[in-house]
Amino acid sequence: SKPQESLNIVIVGHVDHGKSTLVGRLYADTGSLPEGKVEKVQAICRQQGKEFEYAFLFDAFLEEQEQGITIDTARTFFIWNGRQYIIIDAPGHKEFLKNMISGAARAEAALLLIDALEGVREQSKKHGYLLSLLGVTQFAVVVNKMDLVGYRQDVFDGIEKEYREFLGQFRAVPQQMIPVSAKMGDNIATRSSHMNWYQGPTVLETLALFKKEQVRSEQPLRFPLQDVYKFDARRILAGRITAGRLKVGDQLVFSPSNKTAVVQSLEGFNVDPPRSDAQAGESVGITLDEQIFVERGEIASHRDSIPLVSTAIRVNLFWMGRRPLEKGRKYVLRLATREVACEVAAIHRIIDTADLAQLQESQSVAKNQVAELTLRVKSPLAFDLSSSFEATGRFVLVDEYDIAGGGIITELVHDEQEGL
Ligand code: GDP
Repeated sequence: SKPQESLNIVIVGHVDHGKSTLVGRLYADTGSLPEGKVEKVQAICRQQGKEFEYAFLFDAFLEEQEQGITIDTARTFFIWNGRQYIIIDAPGHKEFLKNMISGAARAEAALLLIDALEGVREQSKKHGYLLSLLGVTQFAVVVNKMDLVGYRQDVFDGIEKEYREFLGQFRAVPQQMIPVSAKMGDNIATRSSHMNWYQGPTVLETLALFKKEQVRSEQPLRFPLQDVYKFDARRILAGRITAGRLKVGDQLVFSPSNKTAVVQSLEGFNVDPPRSDAQAGESVGITLDEQIFVERGEIASHRDSIPLVSTAIRVNLFWMGRRPLEKGRKYVLRLATREVACEVAAIHRIIDTADLAQLQESQSVAKNQVAELTLRVKSPLAFDLSSSFEATGRFVLVDEYDIAGGGIITELVHDEQEGL
């Protein structure tokens, strides 16, 4: 059967604004919970003399999944209309940022919760900024607890206006702003009869409108060279394809050297007849029609969509090093299979992940801070923007021998200085 499409989503919001309740609702209303689960939790609530909460439902579900070893608790899912929605659990900003930036968990879309009674809080603003920092452009704002404000349109309109203005400052545009009550189930799976003034989609309808990131094998080719082996007179170029596909007869361009050659054979599959093509996720060795000198770290692509090349890049970086990241100090930047010396050319902005507060101008980035930086590398680097390619749009920084930071590339910087 056809593999089911899945979409990674993250739900962010101030504590108590209703994240667990919303998630509990989504699981319950899509029929994703085991049979009898709702009744069971309701019975426990009655026994303990407390009011039933959708949030408890989710907690109980999590606990149950935790007991099964095979299920990754950080990634529970529900299924709706043939699509699997994987909810990336973000226990804290620090973990979330780290996972997102390191590529351990990449959210393709987000729901950002705001409490209608409390209105737009500092935290709601920080979350909006955080999503944009991480390159999550697909998101909806869910204005929750509308039941507590009498389902009034003027309350919702006020929040919508204020929040859209805020997001506009960094050109972020939500796909939708939705008035809901997660507790009562208004505009989650079914349209609310309390808010006839709202004509837009429900939360589930909005999720269905979110687009899946392009399937990796259908992207342009990216084949970072891991090693070059010599066998007799032949040279075999080995590595893992991180995007797209390649086949015998393709002309390849190697970046940043800009050399070209044609794929003559594919090695490394012990199959008969030999394979003539390979795709993203596979490790292969290739031989070329010509002896060209290329080395580990170069990225092979097709001519019509080569990676970017520069000696300077603008990045968003998560720092976890024991000593602070400092201007003027040398680091090693690792991107796919490439390693190159680099240094910080400029620190544009620093954010503390504990409270997402923006910090004052500084010459260094401390542990657990996120920073927008310009990095300069010693010699031209081939890369992609993280908004278009996953593996080649991401890097780590090595300080001495430790991986001390990870980041995503947001822009190419035209470098007057030509490297370090
Ligand atoms: P979280 O900290 O963001 O996960 O928030 P919870 O889901 O635990 O909800 C915090 C409190 O708000 C709980 O007491 C919920 O019952 C309550 N709550 C959540 N959603 C709604 C809502 O739509 N209406 C009302 N009245 N209360 C809600």
